[in-house]
Formats: sequence, C-alpha cells, structure tokens
Amino acid sequence: MDDTRQHAAGAVRLGTWPTPVEAAPRLAAALGLDPDDLVLKRDDLSGLAGGGNKVRKLEHTIGAAVADGATAVVTSGAPQSNHARLTAAAAARLGLDAVLVLEGGPPRETRGNLLLDGLLGARIVWAGEAGPQELAARVEEEAAALRAAGTATAVVPFGGSSVLGARGYAEAGAELLQQVPDLATVVVAVGSGGTMAGLVHALGASRVLGVDTGAVPDPVDRVTEFAAGLAREDGTPAPGELRLRRDQVGEGYGSLTPAVRDALALLARTEGVVLDPVYTGRAAAGLVAAVAEGDVRRGQRTVLLHSGGLPGLFGHPDAASLAGPR
Ligand SMILES: *Cc1c(COP(=O)(O)O)cnc(C)c1O
Repeated sequence: MDDTRQHAAGAVRLGTWPTPVEAAPRLAAALGLDPDDLVLKRDDLSGLAGGGNKVRKLEHTIGAAVADGATAVVTSGAPQSNHARLTAAAAARLGLDAVLVLEGGPPRETRGNLLLDGLLGARIVWAGEAGPQELAARVEEEAAALRAAGTATAVVPFGGSSVLGARGYAEAGAELLQQVPDLATVVVAVGSGGTMAGLVHALGASRVLGVDTGAVPDPVDRVTEFAAGLAREDGTPAPGELRLRRDQVGEGYGSLTPAVRDALALLARTEGVVLDPVYTGRAAAGLVAAVAEGDVRRGQRTVLLHSGGLPGLFGHPDAASLAGPR
C-alpha cells in the first residue's frame, strides 16, 4: 500500500491519515451559530482498535522505542485509559509485549477499555491508589524487572505525552490547517497535555481552546513545557498565552457533570456523533460555554476535535443513565 506520509526519523505509521473533517450544521444552529461555523475533526476515526488521539502520539513514542530495539513497552493510566488501550493495540500490531500499570484495583466487571486491554493481550498491573509520582515509580519498577530478565523495554510516558509524543499533534495541526485554512479556534480536551501542546505549536496559542478534564494537577505547566520543547526543537518562538478553560472538571476526572450530560445528548441528537463522558464530552461542554460567553462567535470557523474515547463511555459507571428520557 502506498504510504505517502512523511515521518520523522523513528516514527512508525499506526493510523489512517488524514482523518476526516465534517460540517456540523445542526449543532451550529442549536448553539445559535451559522451552519458553516462548526466543523468536527474526526480523530476518533484514526484507525487502530477504537481510534482516538493517542494513535498520533504513539506513532512517535512507540516508533522511538522500536528504533531503540525494544521488544516490550510499559505505560500507565487510569483504569479506563484510552492511551493504555491504544498502547496495547500498537504493541500488538508491532509484535511487542505491553504492560499497563493502572491506578486502583481490579473492578468487579471488566468493561470498556479494560476489556479491550485484555483482548489485545496486554498484561495489567494494578497500582492501587497512586498519585502521578507513585504511578511513574511503579512503571519504572516493572520496566526494571523486565530488563533484569533480559527483555529490551521502553517506557511510554503517561498519556503518551512528552515533547516527542506532542510531535504527533503538531502534525495534526498542520493537517487540520490544510483541511480548514480559515480556522479561528480548535477546541480540544486536555488530559496529559500533549495534544493541546502539539496543536499550539502548529496553530499558535490564540487558536487553540483547551478544556481541562482534571486528569493532572498542573495542565498549564505541562502544555507549556511540551509546546516550548517543540518550539526549541524547531527553533521557533515559545508559545504565547494559553487559552485553557478549567470550568468543566466538576467533582473530578471521573465525574459525569450535568453540562457534559447535556453536551453528550446534544451532539448525539443533532449530529449522530457520540462523545465520551471524560474527554470529548468536556470539550463539547467547554465549546457550549465558550459560545454562551462570546469567546467563540458567529462567523468564525470553529473546530471541535473529536479525540475518541468511545470505549470509555462503555466503561463509565453512569453510562446507562445517559440513555434515559430527558
Ligand atoms: C487522552 C485523551 C485526551 C487528552 O489528550 P492529552 O494529550 O492527554 O491531553 C482527549 N480525548 C481523549 C478521548 C483521550 O483519550
């Protein structure tokens, strides 16, 4: 098959590019915008086991691991981590072993991403109640044990986010600009920060509206660090001031907020597009709030990044309540 996409040294191809862009005229109308104002960037259709934004980052991080001769990868995440699921899928495709160090303990039912992790052949290690530092330490322990047993092992960072991983979203930003040259704002969920950082690098900070999900305590620092790292590598100016909303976190990362509930129903019922409660639902709720406040306006081309996460919907404890009458 013809692979025309240019890749940085060490990167591997895991997805199907470019992902489509779609108009969202009924959503735009529901928000009081003109029909052409809103576009969905379908990175949920990036290929590989359920798709999502982690595929672009893994092309670089797992690509580097393979280039270094690794035959096993270790990474970490929440129990319903989309990144962990896609690391397991990428490892399977490349013939590597995958170890996923997840927060908490085994749930009563194996659903959503966790079900796919097992199906994809990954080994799960439960880390218990662990903060970011403890989780990173557990990952290093697992990697050290594998290396001691003679297995060349690479660590893929939490959420796939590092300067290297963010490179995948700098590419996505360039791809999006080809598809939507008059883009004013792209709205994106922020977890570990690499996705927003790459977009900021490609599009400039003023055109990227991040919506925090509460996945990390310091999203501004992380996005700034990764975007600055990309700028240093390319010899371009450091990013300007970030636009990052932190009003959609609610009671925390795993909580399903009323605004997200409404946003999930809105996208489903205007465009037939399904979002997830943790990431893309928050991005959509942030978009709704930004329109209400006049931060996103009529006549400006606005893109909502659909970054995937559908398996997470099926793994969420409150998922069934979404099907009820409204
Ligand atoms: C991880 C994730 C994000 C956030 O991306 P980061 O690069 O971690 O900030 C957004 N949407 C979905 C569906 C994700 O899985």
